[in-house]
Amino acid sequence: FPHRRIAIFGSTGSIGCQALEVIAANPDKFTAEVLTAHSNDELLIKQALKFNPNIVVIGDTTKYQIVKEALSQTDVKVFAGESALEEVAGMDCYDMMLAAIVGFAGLRPTLCALESGKAIALANKETLVVAGDIVMQKAIEKRVPVIPVDSEHSAIFQCLVGETRNKIEKVILTASGGPFLGKKPNYLVNVKRDHALQHPNWQMGAKITIDSATLMNKGLEMIEARWLFDLGPDQVQVLVHPQSIIHSLVQFEDGSIKAQMGLPDMKLPIQYALAFPHRIPNDFPRYNFKNPAQLTFEEPDTKTFRNLVLATEALFKGGNQPCVLNAANEIAVFAFLRNRIGFLDMTDLIERTLQHVPMIEKPTLEEYFDSDGEARNFAASLIKL
Ligand code: NDP
Ligand code: MG
Repeated sequence: FPHRRIAIFGSTGSIGCQALEVIAANPDKFTAEVLTAHSNDELLIKQALKFNPNIVVIGDTTKYQIVKEALSQTDVKVFAGESALEEVAGMDCYDMMLAAIVGFAGLRPTLCALESGKAIALANKETLVVAGDIVMQKAIEKRVPVIPVDSEHSAIFQCLVGETRNKIEKVILTASGGPFLGKKPNYLVNVKRDHALQHPNWQMGAKITIDSATLMNKGLEMIEARWLFDLGPDQVQVLVHPQSIIHSLVQFEDGSIKAQMGLPDMKLPIQYALAFPHRIPNDFPRYNFKNPAQLTFEEPDTKTFRNLVLATEALFKGGNQPCVLNAANEIAVFAFLRNRIGFLDMTDLIERTLQHVPMIEKPTLEEYFDSDGEARNFAASLIKL
């Protein structure tokens, strides 16, 4: 196993922390060379003292001195600010970036990593939702792999090992349905943040947990799958599977279907991406077919969870529409988490923003940034954040 130097962008998040557990369990295989946080200086310092990386980056520049002082007895280099993320992403002190920043903020550092020829383990799905064509094109140009960490996409990726992409008929993304599976709008209208933050199967960061409750997460994942696996919009389907044991499926042109299964534990897809193409042993709990003994499937309720319809429309329209969808969604989730708007208002906000921002068929990177900004401003103006 070739030793791999990992840069974890977003090391203080849910994915970042689980990745550090994987690295700690395999010190002969991985070292953490770069760790980054946005504002959680305390955890970043703890991680740096434990893993002794080459570099840490704290996004919030007001925390620079605190981090610098706390690490003054070590030889860890400390950087601060948004532009430092890009600068460090382009450095040669690591082999693979785990892109685990949440939201649009992850796009630029990931592009810089690709530009400098680094392999990407991609958790940050928003990167592909916003500018999937440009990101994947860059990966092809630089001949570097983009290996999914998102559990559904890791499942599809694993099903495709040894297969040819052009033999895929469709992929089927499974969805847990989130905490409000089976609920109707008259219930959802009163749902509050603390309730929406309780996910039945996964412990995740706040943003993706709300996205799971509204099914926007699955919509974003449809767009992510389209780019990762070079599929047509009509080749991506969603199936609700509340037990989250089958992580996704691929149907081939002869009708054969492959699925990837396991207990819901993000450490597995994280480890798979960090180690690819190798598999490495671990002591994670195993699925034993007795618990849960029954695996069930149902169609998503798109009348209630309209975010899935908006995302599907954006997927089919293409251009800057997924970027606008993502920006409006980030604003909507942010506002919901601060109790500024209700659960169902999130969908209205996204819909109105999609109607407002003009379509661009084939945006440049700059135009993606403009569309993102325009969508954010408009969405925010609707709620006066
Ligand atoms: P968290 O919110 O737990 O962590 C986000 C990380 O990004 C933290 O390290 C945070 O730093 C950092 N961050 C936040 N905002 C910024 C910013 N503006 N600039 C730079 N860094 C920033 O998120 P998750 O770990 O849950 O998710 C990360 C990504 O992985 C998301 O795109 C999500 O969709 C995807 N994903 C997550 C899964 C999960 O199980 N959690 C499953 C599948 C995909 P700080 O702590 O200082 O705020
Ligand atoms: Mg997922």
